[in-house]
Amino acid sequence: MSSDDRVFPDEQLPEGSVVDGETVTRAINETFDFVVVGSGAAGGTAAWTLVQAGYTVAIIEEGPWVKTREVDKRVFPSFKRAFREAGTQVLMGNSIIPLLQGRCVGGSTLVNSAIVWRTPDDVLDDWKKNWGIGGAFSEADLEPHFAAIEEELKVHAVLDEALGENNRLFVDNSFKGGFVGTRMKRYEHGCKGAGQCLTGCPNAAKQGMNVSYIPWSLRQGARIFTSVRVDRIDVKNGRAVGITGSTTATNPKHGKKIPVVVHARRGVFLAASAIQTPNILRRSGVKNDHLGEHFMAHPGLGLPGVFNQKVDMHFGATQGAETIDFRKSERFKLETISMQPELAAVRIPGVGRELVQRLTTLPHAAIWVAQIRAEAQGRIRPGFGGRDMVNYSMTKEDVGRGRKAAALIARLFFESGAKEVWPGIHGLPEIIRSMDEVKLIENAPLDSKYYSFIASHLFGAARMAPTEREGVVGLDFSTHAAKGLYVVDSSIFPTNLGVNPQHSIMALARFAATRVAAKPLEVAAA
Ligand SMILES: Cc1cc2nc3c(=O)[nH]c(=O)nc-3n(C[C@H](O)[C@H](O)[C@H](O)COP(=O)(O)OP(=O)(O)OC[C@H]3O[C@@H](n4cnc5c(N)ncnc54)[C@H](O)[C@@H]3O)c2cc1C
Ligand code: SF4
Repeated sequence: MSSDDRVFPDEQLPEGSVVDGETVTRAINETFDFVVVGSGAAGGTAAWTLVQAGYTVAIIEEGPWVKTREVDKRVFPSFKRAFREAGTQVLMGNSIIPLLQGRCVGGSTLVNSAIVWRTPDDVLDDWKKNWGIGGAFSEADLEPHFAAIEEELKVHAVLDEALGENNRLFVDNSFKGGFVGTRMKRYEHGCKGAGQCLTGCPNAAKQGMNVSYIPWSLRQGARIFTSVRVDRIDVKNGRAVGITGSTTATNPKHGKKIPVVVHARRGVFLAASAIQTPNILRRSGVKNDHLGEHFMAHPGLGLPGVFNQKVDMHFGATQGAETIDFRKSERFKLETISMQPELAAVRIPGVGRELVQRLTTLPHAAIWVAQIRAEAQGRIRPGFGGRDMVNYSMTKEDVGRGRKAAALIARLFFESGAKEVWPGIHGLPEIIRSMDEVKLIENAPLDSKYYSFIASHLFGAARMAPTEREGVVGLDFSTHAAKGLYVVDSSIFPTNLGVNPQHSIMALARFAATRVAAKPLEVAAA
């Protein structure tokens, strides 16, 4: 917890602009021009765009607001408060893959690494040629939106003072792996290289929605309802007219959750993420054969390497170096990542005394990761207790890409002077110590159960398409089923990207909100 005497951007907000569902005692029934569901990358951007255009906006967020001053670098309390299901969600299929999502003001932008990538041209071409959505937006349409976001959220490459050894080792040695490693571009201003982006930034340096577009929107008249879960979008005469939900906490007086109804005169922006949006649409009565189908991901696989010298992952931008040289040819992207000791410790081989001894080697460990542009498609359905159930199985080819990337990383570690690599692949030695042993990784079974994949880049399951027969959302970002029910998160993406998704999500949300703001629906009859 911070005793810093600075005023952070998430403090001193206008009176009444934050309605906290954990403390309200009376039912909520209010009316705005637009309601935005979710305060993450998509929702924060849509809200800020609509507010600037002069509309009244309500933002509804299921999670709490974890203020900069409350950021706690201890992993468990922080995961419990800021992550959905405390970080214990999974993708279930031929293996179980942990799934990470923020559930707080700022959504996943509070807990992510702030890496910025514009949508690659080949992806936009593919969407246009093969998915029929070229009529919705072009590369030229998105350009000013990317540029505006980059300026507002201070995008720049990692500076020397925040680089840290994990990132430096990757960049400096990348040529030994036959590729070009570069410093990442990130949304940040004043990063001190605290290496704890995954539990929130204690300096408000990372420009997550919680310290940027959300407080900026509130200062211009928007209101946010936190710890309020949207149950459904209300649709009347084929048009979205508001949301119905309830507080996530129960009222101590009667033990019940408090009902929340927010009317939308002009429309509802659904931005609850690729996992939650499909089931919210389902609960709202939207029927479509593609709803919940075609879910895609970038499963990630990390390998620690141990050096003689200290790496000290606790210092440096959490994720500060990368290469996209293999994106097209091999369908994976390589990145660095620094983890807090409690998280990194999960990957330490051994038990008992050996484990204790190995804990002391953590300051010498670096972690390099592959994000796989997997071809597998999964399915999202309602799960037990209002949860979201994701059925997803990586294909053998996807696992093969992961295996190839793991071998490349291991080789690069040894070329860079590491003395050990911990592959984390079931059936292989827990530690490999030489270049020769990398062939063990190259020959590992092509079964995702053997690997430690993790998913945080999520796409599809309410895809955009010109007609209702082909998809859920039309080229105007509104569902085919109901007018004024705009979907602006990555559930509308027809495919995954091969690069980190936040920037694509934000540019599309900004583009959609700008267009709707310029030509809104007539005010709905009360
Ligand atoms: C650990 C981690 C690291 C990542 N690193 C990067 C990175 O460096 N760069 C990058 O480009 N991408 C990164 N990503 C992915 C990126 O953060 C997401 O793609 C992006 O935030 C998704 O935006 P979104 O608005 O769709 O969803 P989110 O940002 O997840 O926001 C959705 C919000 O909607 C709320 N919500 C859901 N259901 C309801 C409901 N029923 N009622 C009310 N509110 C609801 C959620 O609580 C959540 O706050 C990372 C993700 C994670 C988890
Ligand atoms: S590395 Fe540390 S200071 Fe930099 S953005 Fe992340 S949490 Fe903030």
